[in-house]
Parts: sequence; structure tokens; C-alpha cells
Amino acid sequence: MSQKHSFQAEVAQLLHLVTHSLYSNKEIFVRELVSNASDACDKLRYEALNNSALYEDAPELRVRIALDKKARTLTITDNGIGMSAQEAIDHLGTIAKSGTKDFMSKLGADKQADAKEQGQLIGQFGVGFYSGFIVADKITVESRRAGLKPEEGVRWTSGGTGDFEVETITRPERGTSVILHLREDESNSADEYLSAWKIKQIIGKYSDHIALPIQMRKEEWKESEEEGKPGEMVTTDEWETVNKASALWTRAKKDITKEEYESFYQGISHDYEAPLAWSHNRVEGSTEYTQLLYVPAKAPYDLWNRDKKGGLKLYVKRVFIMDEAEALLPSYLRFVKGVVDSADLPLNVSRELLQESRDVRAIRDGNTKRVLTLLENLAKHDVPATDASEEDKAEAGKYSKFYAEFGTVLKEGLGEDFANRERLAKLLRYASTTSDTATVSLADYKARMKEGQEAIYYITADTLAAAKNSPQLEVFKKKGIEVLLMTERVDEWALSYLTEFDGTPLQSVAKGAVDLGKLQDEAEKKAAEEAAEAFKPVLAKLKEALKDKTEDVRVTTRLVDSPACLVVKDGEVSNQLARLLKQAGQ
Ligand code: ADP
Ligand code: MG
Repeated sequence: MSQKHSFQAEVAQLLHLVTHSLYSNKEIFVRELVSNASDACDKLRYEALNNSALYEDAPELRVRIALDKKARTLTITDNGIGMSAQEAIDHLGTIAKSGTKDFMSKLGADKQADAKEQGQLIGQFGVGFYSGFIVADKITVESRRAGLKPEEGVRWTSGGTGDFEVETITRPERGTSVILHLREDESNSADEYLSAWKIKQIIGKYSDHIALPIQMRKEEWKESEEEGKPGEMVTTDEWETVNKASALWTRAKKDITKEEYESFYQGISHDYEAPLAWSHNRVEGSTEYTQLLYVPAKAPYDLWNRDKKGGLKLYVKRVFIMDEAEALLPSYLRFVKGVVDSADLPLNVSRELLQESRDVRAIRDGNTKRVLTLLENLAKHDVPATDASEEDKAEAGKYSKFYAEFGTVLKEGLGEDFANRERLAKLLRYASTTSDTATVSLADYKARMKEGQEAIYYITADTLAAAKNSPQLEVFKKKGIEVLLMTERVDEWALSYLTEFDGTPLQSVAKGAVDLGKLQDEAEKKAAEEAAEAFKPVLAKLKEALKDKTEDVRVTTRLVDSPACLVVKDGEVSNQLARLLKQAGQ
């Protein structure tokens, strides 16, 4: 007896997108389904820590891929945790993942995005199971959850449109088979996935690092029995492992190629692009762990989602524990992807326990330092010296690229990570009155400071044009003093945590009485004092007239052409921040 169910509306929408946008990158379905099989084995191993009976009589976890040319099916079978009927309905009929709504609305809002961009978005998001429908017009899933009786198996079937069917089956073996009935059309282009050679090639590309054996039927060359006829490849009953089946991060650095590092990244991040940089280390000492950390080349669509979890996977002694382990990196480094494999944490560690663990704190500090070192290196080689080595030249421009994508999040670190504030400050880049692009570091600025200049000057505004044309800059322009132009929402807040850089105070040109100190000559000072004296009666009248609107009215030296400007009292919220707070409803 089978039961019909409708897909959740989002799934139906997603399915439509999958089949219409991903045709240029069809093969990713192999990666997605193999990664689900591998996740299922991880989950079994994890649950079995407390209940070894779940292994039943098959403790060797593996994934098998079988091809049937006649039936035109490709079947991926794992002996992992499996699914109960309810789980099949819940997990294969809805998208339970957080961030999905965001993703959908992003796609909705971005109707102009072409198919390729949509494909990339979906890729980032990881369409997972539904990617099977790129090549299949029908998918059958047969599964039995570990620990349930053989009669409590489930068969789930769908043509990938509005609904799916579920029925109870008997399935002696634990785990899941996903059977793809390859799409039939004029060219039968999906047929290439019936070639063992092709599948092996895709596995080599995406799934070599999967720590489980992925097996396929062994093929053998068979000479023809008839004289003169050519031989042929035949499929035997024997299974052979076709991936390297070793967790990449456990291998020695020198034995891993650039391509392997890159494809591992693509496997864990679902990113189409190669990463910008990575750092792979085995850390020894009081806390032992291996870290493999990647900086992506592109910001994900949900980078600004404050609830976005971190991008690190946590393993304990090669056993997968959890995805998105946010305790392993501070939030301002949430764009970093990778793996941490700890030798010390207990296998049954929970998210809550992670927050309190001393080992985790050590790992988090270690990870943070590594990422900062990686970024410092990129920054150092961003503009290479003419005599730089070829290797260093290859790093050129990477930091600018990184900064354009992630500079804004990095600034959050000023308020979040006091211990590394100085290192972070060195990594920041701003536009200034001498550069329209955000390329000026605080160190560059200091090196160009005028004789007698005692502060790093900056202005905050909504746009670069507004910053550049602010009357508050007049005197600085006249005297040729560089002013940093800050136009991001986060700047004002971040700078409240950065009052000085390398011994030099940061000073907003829009706050208080700008004291140019030694930059003013005697004549200017005298003129200012005289003016203040001469204008006393006028000031008194203005103050009286504006008494409900201003605190003070005074003569200033900061203007050259404009008659007047508004400034904020020292230590008070600036105009810009006040506007922001107002927008945020505060
Ligand atoms: P994700 O893997 O990111 O959770 P998927 O769309 O790939 O999303 O899979 C959806 C869910 O379906 C999984 O979270 C899991 O609960 C279930 N699932 C898919 N494939 C398997 C499998 N081979 N064994 C057990 N559960 C599976
Ligand atoms: Mg998946």
C-alpha cells in the first residue's frame, strides 16, 4: 500500500530550479549523493558509540555504486544509518535546513540572475539530494534505519515534480539505496553516467577524500571465444574500491597536490570556485589537533546573516562529529571553511559542551592565529616587489580580492577579538583623500603623515562622494593632510574599538574642535583667537537663536570655503552613527 504526499512548496520550486539551472554542471549529483551516503555512515558511527548493536552484522561501512545499462539506472547504496518511513517523508519531502528561506528569497529577488548564476547559488547552498533529478526523471529510495526490523523498511518514489509516494518494504540490509532512473530524451545525454569510467573520473574529482571506501564492480577484459573477434570489458561480481578513501587532512602536506587541496575544498564547501588560500597544520602540545582552513575566493550569499554558523567541520580522531562548529572560530571569521580533527575531545561532545571546553578554546585561538597569519601573508604579497620570486608573484592581488569580498566582516573583529586587535588593525584597508579604492592601510597612512601631525584623521559618511565633499575636510585639503574616508556601516562601530594605531590616536574630523596642534602656525592660531574674540556677540546671538537645537556655537579653523558646518561633541555618537541607529529603530 503506497501513500501519496506532496512536496513542500519550496521543494517543488527548488526542483524546478535544479532541473533548469544545473544542466551545465550535471555531474555534481554524484558528489551530493555520495556525500549523503558518507554522512549517513558518519551518523551511524556516531550513534553506535553508545549502542554498538546498531552495526548489526555489518561493521565495515562503505558506499557502493552500481550501474545497470539495460535498466538505465545508477544506484548508490550505503550501509549507514538509513531512514525510517517518517524520516524519509520528513527529510526527502521538505527542506528543513536553516537559511533555505533566505536562499529562496534571494533567488526570488534576483530573477534576472541567469541560469549559470542560479546554478552557482544553488551549488553554494548545496541542493543535496534533489540534485539527482538533474539526470533522473524518477528516483527510488529504499531504506531501513539501523535498529529497526527488516519489515520496517521504506520505499520512497518520485518523478521530481509535485509529489512523492511512500510504501513499507522489507529490507534485510541496513542503510539506503538511491536508485536514479536516468532521464530519457532525444539524445539520452544522461547515459554517459552509465559508464563506469565516467563515474570513476567524477569520484576522483570530488570524492577521493571521503574517508570511506567507495566501491564499484570490478571490470575485466575478456577475450572473445570466437576466433578473430575482438574481446570486451565485462563486469564481474567483485567489488573494488575506487577512491583513495583516506581523509585528506590526515595525509602529509608534501604528499598532497594543489589540485587535491582544491577539490577537497570544493567537496566540503559546494563552491564552484577554487579557494583563495589555505593553511594545513598538525598542532602538537597540550592540545593536539589537525587544522585545514580555507579562505574562499567569493563571499557566500548569506554572509550577512548574523545567525550564519561557522564553516568548520569537527572530527574527533577521524570520526565526524558535527558540521558548522561555530565554537571553533570567532564569528568575524565565519567565512573560513575547513576541518578540525581533535585528538583530545570526547567523541560524545555536544555543541553546548564545546562552548565550555578548554581544548576548544585552545583550538579556536589556534585557528584564529592561523587565519590571521594566512591573511598577513596574502597582504604582504599583494603588491609584489619587482625582484619577488615566482612563487610570491603568484600571490599578487589575492589580498585585494579577499578584502573586497570579506573586508567588511573582518572589521567586526575589532569589536569581537580584543586579543588580536592590533593584528586585525594592520589588515584593514580604507579609501582616503589620496585613494578612491580601499587600499590604504593604517601603516601606509602613518608613513605619509605630515611633520607635526599627531593623529590619524578619518571621516565617516554614507558614500564616498559625501565623504570627499564634506566641508569638514576643507582645512585638511588645504594643508595637504590625508584623511581616511570611511563609508561602511560597520566602520563607525568598529572604530569605537580602535582608538589608536601603533601609538597614534585615531581622530574623527567631524568631532569636537579639531586641534591641528603643531600643524597650525602661529599666525593662524592668532587669527583664530582674534576671530573668536571679534565674533563673541554674533556667537551669543546664534547660541540664543539655536538654543534648543545645538549645544554650542563656535568659531572654527576647520573651514576654508564653507561658512558653517555641524560637528558632534567629542565622545558622542556621530551624525552618521546616529542616523544608523535611527534606521535600526533605536
Ligand atoms: P543535507 O545532506 O545537506 O542535509 P540533502 O538534501 O543532501 O541535504 O539530504 C537531505 C536529508 O535526507 C539528509 O539530511 C538526510 O537526513 C536524508 N538523507 C539523504 N540521503 C540519505 C542517506 N543516504 N541515508 C540517510 N539519510 C539520508
Ligand atoms: Mg547532502
